[in-house]
Amino acid sequence: MAEKRKYKKRYCKYCESKVDFIDYKDTGTLKFSLSERYKIMPRRLTGNCKRHQDMITIAIKRSRAAALIPYTVTRKAVITNPFEGL
Ligand SMILES: [Zn+2]
Repeated sequence: MAEKRKYKKRYCKYCESKVDFIDYKDTGTLKFSLSERYKIMPRRLTGNCKRHQDMITIAIKRSRAAALIPYTVTRKAVITNPFEGL
């Protein structure tokens, strides 16, 4: 293979665990859809469905406003890999 894919799983994690509501206070769940610099991961990489991606986007934006998730990260504070706990 010429190109190695970083994200193998293409199914929606939230559909699999039957999540109907994503809480903005639940940063552990939101972390799965955030990049190492706390940007929202695009759907083409995470494999989330449209419905859940919209819910995540709203929850993350609320969470940022409530200062639970940073808007920006300095170079030193970058966490290694948000997906390693999976
Ligand atoms: Zn879904």
